Amino acid sequence: MPSKPILAVDVDGVISLFGYDEPPPPSEARFQLVDGMLHCISLRAGERLGRLGEHFDLVWATGWEEKANFYLPEMLGLAELPYLSFDGARFGSAHWKLGPLEEYCRGRAMAWIDDNLDESCYRWARERSEPTLLVPTDPAIGLQEVETEALIAWGGGLAFETAR
Ligand SMILES: [Mg+2]
Repeated sequence: MPSKPILAVDVDGVISLFGYDEPPPPSEARFQLVDGMLHCISLRAGERLGRLGEHFDLVWATGWEEKANFYLPEMLGLAELPYLSFDGARFGSAHWKLGPLEEYCRGRAMAWIDDNLDESCYRWARERSEPTLLVPTDPAIGLQEVETEALIAWGGGLAFETAR
């Protein structure tokens, strides 16, 4: 059986919402203090991530690093996930997540959902020899149904190709 593709998951702007005009209703979000910063965690995004976990091997790709596992799985009803470490290598000229992502995803199909993809990320994706899909989000609403379904369809297409 072919292995699932990887899905690298950013938190801020994907699960933790910001920049909205009005906060989501309490049935759709929880507020959580993390290192003194108030975060608006989308429960809908959590539910969608749970569904994506059936189709992908999820990995946290976020400046939250191990703190993602401390706060999010319990709130969102998810299992703890592996996470990338960035060793403070942030804010360089290239996108600071690319090095660790390259290493973690080497040789495997991968998708990456993030609100902050730039030209260097798309160049990296084009140059990978494995199937690679970048999925941008609007940080005010985070991971929506449309991205969730697109990711599941993409993963399903890969499985079909592999099985032929
Ligand atoms: Mg982000």
